[in-house]
Formats: sequence, C-alpha cells, structure tokens
Amino acid sequence: MKYSLIFPIYNETENIEVLYKRVKKVMDGLRKDYELIFVNDGSDDSTLSHLLVLHQKDKKVKIINFSRNFGHQVAVSAGLRFAKGENVAILDSDLQDPPEILPKFFSKLHEGYDAVYAIRKERKENFLKKFAYSSFYRFLRSIANIDIPLDSGDFCVMSRRIVEVINTLPERNRFVRGLRSWVGFKQTGLEYERDARLGGHSKYNLRRLFKLAFDGIFSFSYVPLQAMFYLGLVSLILSILGSIGAVYLRFFTTAYNRVPGFATTVILIMFVGGLMLFSVGIMGEYIRRIYDEIKQRPQFIIDSMVGFEE
Ligand code: UDP
Ligand code: MG
Repeated sequence: MKYSLIFPIYNETENIEVLYKRVKKVMDGLRKDYELIFVNDGSDDSTLSHLLVLHQKDKKVKIINFSRNFGHQVAVSAGLRFAKGENVAILDSDLQDPPEILPKFFSKLHEGYDAVYAIRKERKENFLKKFAYSSFYRFLRSIANIDIPLDSGDFCVMSRRIVEVINTLPERNRFVRGLRSWVGFKQTGLEYERDARLGGHSKYNLRRLFKLAFDGIFSFSYVPLQAMFYLGLVSLILSILGSIGAVYLRFFTTAYNRVPGFATTVILIMFVGGLMLFSVGIMGEYIRRIYDEIKQRPQFIIDSMVGFEE
C-alpha cells in the first residue's frame, strides 16, 4: 500500500459525494495503490449509509465506525492507527483541505521529508475567528516547549516512521498537530489557500475550540505552572513591602489614621483570592490530565470496521 488518506467525518452527508469524487480523481492520477479511511465519529445523520454505499462500489473506501462521538482529534488518531500506507495524509471531510494539492505534498515527501504540513495562507472565515485563531497560534508558539508551526492544522502528509511513532504515544487529550511536531525528523510546511467549508456547518463550537486550545497549551507547555509560581512570588514580595510601609506609617508618621484603607483591603482580598483560584484552576487542568491518563481508558471504542478484512 502506497498511500493512506484519513478522513475524520462527523455528520457530513452534504459533502461526501463531492469529497469522494474529487479525492478519487486526484488519487487515481497518481497510479499507485491507495486506501481512503473514513473514521465515522458517531455521526447521527446518514453519513454512515452514504459511506457504506461508497464502499459497495469501491473497495478502496474503508470505514472505522465509532460507538459514539469521540471528537475530531481522536478520530484522526484512530485513522493513523489503522492506516497501512507508506505515506499517510490527514484531511478534513468538508473540503476545506483541497485534495488537489496532495500530489505536490507527496512529491515533497519523496524529496526526503518525513512530514509536510499545510500552512494556511488565508482563512475564509469571519474576522473574529481569524483573529482568534491567529493569536492563539502565536501565543501557543511563544509558550510551547516544542516548535509548533504557525497557522498549520492537521492537514498534512507523513511518512510511515512518523506515523509509527505517533501511534506509540498513548496520551488521551490529543493535539495531533502538536504530537506531529513533537516527534521531530525532517518536517516542512507548504502554503495553501484554505477553502470555505462546502456544505453544512462547522462541528467545532466554542466549547470544542477551547478544549482543543487547552489541549495544545497544557500538553505542550509548563509555562502556566511557572507563571503561577512567579505571580505568587511577586504578590508575596508586594505584600511584604506593603506591610513594611504600613508599619512605617503607623509608627513614624501621623498619616496612618488618615488612610481610610477599606477599599484597599477589599481590592487586595479580591486580588489575592482571584489569583489563588486562578492558580488552583491551572493546577486542576494538569491534574485532570494526569487523572485522564491514569484511568487508562481506551481513546475510542469501535462499533464496526468495514473494508479492513484482509
Ligand atoms: N469532526 C469529527 N468529529 C467531531 C467534529 C468534527 O470527526 O467531533 C470532523 C468533521 O467532520 C470535519 C473535521 O473533523 O471533517 C473538521 O471539523 P470542522 O470542519 O467542523 O471544523 P472547522 O474546520 O470548522 O475547524
Ligand atoms: Mg472545517
């Protein structure tokens, strides 16, 4: 098997037909053996029946059917686990990642790279979303302990050896683009224009976007923990200076009785309380992740697999 293409798919009925046609055209042009792995992430529309029809007429179409919705990143990870190809590609199923540029990506891979990831030249999304994405990636890059490329998502092609390494990483709150960077080897980016979603609407609501962002931050950075330490230190030093000041005012001046102090006290209590809660929250995020790992639950549960028989 030369190429495996992985498509995480969740309620994308509108897009399947066009997606399949466009992908098929591109891949047939490459004249090598390939497989199309659709990871059905608990869709509750007719996505699965559409996929089964495709499998009926084209055995290159393979389906991993989850028992429920486990999330995009988990679906991608499952696809990587079962992909057999020497070269593996990850694409969204809403045609935001145009399959037509795959040949260019694969040929870059054949030049000796282990991963070629796609860099979005321009996003066709509203201003707020663009701004949020772009600032998040810059923030993550500045605090992450690995080199996560800017403006690149999961859209990429990878060599077998990178896929094998990613498959050995057991972590559960997965941020696939981070794991890919973490593995290392020779990686490079190619620019592309990210299209608008073909049909339907985005499956990433605000909650899911925040989860993804937090997975990126807490899985690849200790800066939040260190920031707590330094914030604590600064407020400790300030409070010592404040106490010295108060003692001075009390014993060496007559100003003390004239300082009302009520507002100051309330603000300080609120500030310190807020700082403490915020810090505990950050620690909680790390602890939640430790707990998730310790439970050792499988990352996903498969209901059925179609086309993997051999
Ligand atoms: N997706 C998935 N499971 C989910 C959410 C999304 O498999 O829980 C798939 C979805 O079908 C699509 C890809 O992940 O193929 C990216 O999702 P989407 O286009 O909704 O995200 P956006 O492009 O808006 O960030
Ligand atoms: Mg999309």
